[in-house]
Amino acid sequence: MTNVERCHQNLSFDPSCLDCSSPLETTIHVMQDCHYARHIWLKILPVALFRPFFTLNLQQWLSCNLTATIFHPQWKVSWRSLFASLTWQIWKRRNDLIFHNPVLTDASIIDRSLAWVKYYSDSVELDKVSPLYRDQRPCKQVVDLVNSPFVGSSVLSLVLAIHRLQQKSWTTIVSWIPRDDNRPADALAKLVSPSDFSLHVYPNPPMVPLYFIMLQSNPIPEFCN
Ligand SMILES: [Zn+2]
Repeated sequence: MTNVERCHQNLSFDPSCLDCSSPLETTIHVMQDCHYARHIWLKILPVALFRPFFTLNLQQWLSCNLTATIFHPQWKVSWRSLFASLTWQIWKRRNDLIFHNPVLTDASIIDRSLAWVKYYSDSVELDKVSPLYRDQRPCKQVVDLVNSPFVGSSVLSLVLAIHRLQQKSWTTIVSWIPRDDNRPADALAKLVSPSDFSLHVYPNPPMVPLYFIMLQSNPIPEFCN
């Protein structure tokens, strides 16, 4: 919580920034304007975003950067993923400063952000993920992507659709189960073509999934295989 917010909630009388003595420690100040945040942004900002970057209000700043479709010219990672990762690391650094934990250097913050982006975003490239969806192959990478904090800024429309469903008033858990561990579901998925999106209603359980369900309940003794 910033000092301005703490004052709003009567938790403090001092809204100034402890790090640079700016009179108002707002969220945009912490994330963008405070000297340590500004140093980091100035080191990595793509030229295309340099001009408007420090002139927007918080909502515009987040919206503009999280919807940007450019890639960082040096590291070839999506800017919006790197931006999201860096804002988290900058916020975390500020909290470390307040709670007297060791504070990371600018280089470490940039390195951590890049590592995060490469693991969660750019390692799951579109051309690698699309066949996984088409073939309905179980893939831990896809599940990791759906469960990552940056799922809302994914470039994949299917991932975004899943994210929108998850944001409704219910609790969802997406976990990876290898195909061999869930043969009934695998058999059910194979009943229709991957390009068929129509609703199918089965008055009776389909035979193949039913067979695997029965097999799970009554496994065939090993000597019969
Ligand atoms: Zn400051």
